[in-house]
Parts: sequence; C-alpha cells; structure tokens
Amino acid sequence: LGVPTVPVRLAPRRPSRRIQVGSVAVGGDAPVSVQSMTTTPTADVGATLQQIAELTAAGCQIVRVACPSQDDADALPAIARKSPIPVVADIHFQPRYVFAAIDAGCAGVRVNPGNIRRFDDQVKEIARAAGAAGVPIRIGVNAGSLDKRLLAKYGKATPEALVESALWECSLFEEHGFRDIKISVKHNDPVVMVSAYRLLAERCDYPLHLGVTEAGPAFQGTIKSAVAFGALLSEGIGDTIRVSLSAPPAEEAKVGIQILESLNLRQRRLEIVSCPSCGRAQVDVYKLAEEVTAGLDGLEVPLRVAVMGCVVNGPGEAREADLGVASGNGKGQIFVKGEVVRTVPESRIVETLIDEALKLAERLRAD
Ligand code: SF4
Repeated sequence: LGVPTVPVRLAPRRPSRRIQVGSVAVGGDAPVSVQSMTTTPTADVGATLQQIAELTAAGCQIVRVACPSQDDADALPAIARKSPIPVVADIHFQPRYVFAAIDAGCAGVRVNPGNIRRFDDQVKEIARAAGAAGVPIRIGVNAGSLDKRLLAKYGKATPEALVESALWECSLFEEHGFRDIKISVKHNDPVVMVSAYRLLAERCDYPLHLGVTEAGPAFQGTIKSAVAFGALLSEGIGDTIRVSLSAPPAEEAKVGIQILESLNLRQRRLEIVSCPSCGRAQVDVYKLAEEVTAGLDGLEVPLRVAVMGCVVNGPGEAREADLGVASGNGKGQIFVKGEVVRTVPESRIVETLIDEALKLAERLRAD
C-alpha cells in the first residue's frame, strides 16, 4: 500500500532539509515517518531483533536502540545488519560508542555533542566519521536533562531554553561543517513542547523529530502525543514522530500511524466510523464496533466502515462510508458504496460486514 499522502492538508509543510536515515528520508517533502525505540537490552540481539520485527509489523519505519554499555555497542553490527528497518543508536556521554555505531552500519545516531565536548577533538572526529559514512545525527534535547548552564539562565526548561540548547548543540557540529542533523526538543508538557517546536521551526531548517517525552501510560500518553503532534503537524511542523508510552513499543507505532492518518498525512487504512450510542440505540454498538474492528484487524486497504446504532444517523453515515450498517428492530441494513445490499438479522451483522469488507478489499486490490 505504501504511505502516500492525500491531497487535503491542514497547512503547507514547513520547508526543511532532507536527510536520509538509511532507507527512510526525513525532512523536505518526504512523508512524515513513524519511529519507536526498543525496550529490550540491546546486548540481547535475539530479543531486540524480535521486538524490531514486531515494530516493523506494526508499521514502525525507524527504530532506536539504547547503547549504554560496551556489550550493547558490540551487538550493534548484528542488529543493524538484520533489522528490516533503519536502526538508530542512542548514545549519551560515550563518544567511543558513536564510532562503534557508525562502524556497525547504524543508519543514524542520537547524541548530544554538548555531552562529549570535554573530550578534546571528539566532536570534530564524530562529525568527520558521520559525514564520511553518510550517517545523520539527531540532537535530542530533553527537559529532564537540560544543560545546567541553560537551567541556570532560564530557571527551568522553558521553550526558549530547549531551543537555545538545541541550536547550541547544532553549532558544535556546524563548526566542523556537519549539517546532516535532525532535532528534537522534548518536554512532558505538550503546551511547552508545542511552543518549543514552533520556536525551533522558525530558527532553523533542520528536520524535526517530534516527541512528548515521558508522556505516561498508554491512555494519557496517547492523548498528550495526539494533541501536541496534532497541533504541530497541522501547522506543517514535524518530519518524523515518536510517541513515548509506558507501554509496549508496537503500541507507540500504532498510535503514531493513527495520528498521521487522522491528519491525512498518510492514507487512512481501516477506519471504523461508529456512533457513541445513546438511548435510541437498538443494538449493542460497542460490542458491534469492537467485533467488526477485531474481525477486520490487519486489513491493509483503505476502507471506511460505519457501525451505527439506529436509523437516525445510521443510514446517512452508512451511505457515506464504503461499507456500513444501520441497525433497528433487531435487523441491520447493510450498505455497500451507498446502496443497501442486504438486510440481515442482528446476529448476522458482524459476519456479513466482514464478508462484504473482504469482498470490497479484494476489489480494491484488483483495481
Ligand atoms: Fe444514538 Fe442512533 Fe446516533 Fe447512535 S446513531 S448515537 S444510537 S442516535
């Protein structure tokens, strides 16, 4: 199916430099990509590759792995070689792991040069090695680890502090002619985060990696991320996204994809239009919507399916969708492309919808 963008957009995209993270372009007119991070010890190559496979199946396009020890660095060549999606090594403080990641064939490195400036010429050497290998670097400023100098200047991690920190980090590479950079300025408060990215977007043309850091458990984190990414992406700001949840990483990828689909930045796949139900409902809408969603899980064609509880809005929504049901009197009127094709008893609504959806999917694939 690919990831084509669709024409209806909320705002033009902010012009940004295009960088290449392995096979995935980030910035410029490249589609906004979805990334996540593994939670396994990176040194455990088998477990890490297994999680990367799950992430890939969920639609993740770039994966980041932490590299806090020599054992993790030693695992990078096997992971980078066998991963089906580009691998970015996440490194703090240890310049030697940056060189190891570049040598390992990683598609990118996340490192903040401010952390390693004290190591004499290391920033220059990293810029040279990354430049020679065509490996981009993400400068990732986080509210929780903001430079002490900026904390003292601003009192806390304000948008201005985050942006000043990021641009200073960039300047350390720019001094050596290295500009193959993307930037993140993450904060756990979506309002501060949005302000920081807006400011950053005005001050540079580097591609931006969006993230609300430590966003929380799945429910809260999903909402925080959707609100923040939605605000920024609707203004054309953001080139790649990472949803951070205290939940399995594949969930992060799914949420990220859903955010992009909701904003029409990616073609929508299966979309269930279901009513919230009310006192007029004549079927159990929640159960119906859940069963239809589960029955069509994994269908990779764009399909809008309406599941409506009664005849008030039911026929209208069902007619607008590719496929739908309007329920009433123990029966369901099944619509396909705006036409009623059958009326079935309530007990057969789910199987009929799934059956019709599969037929439609077949037709779409054949077109
Ligand atoms: Fe209520 Fe019917 Fe609307 Fe569903 S479609 S919310 S049951 S009025």
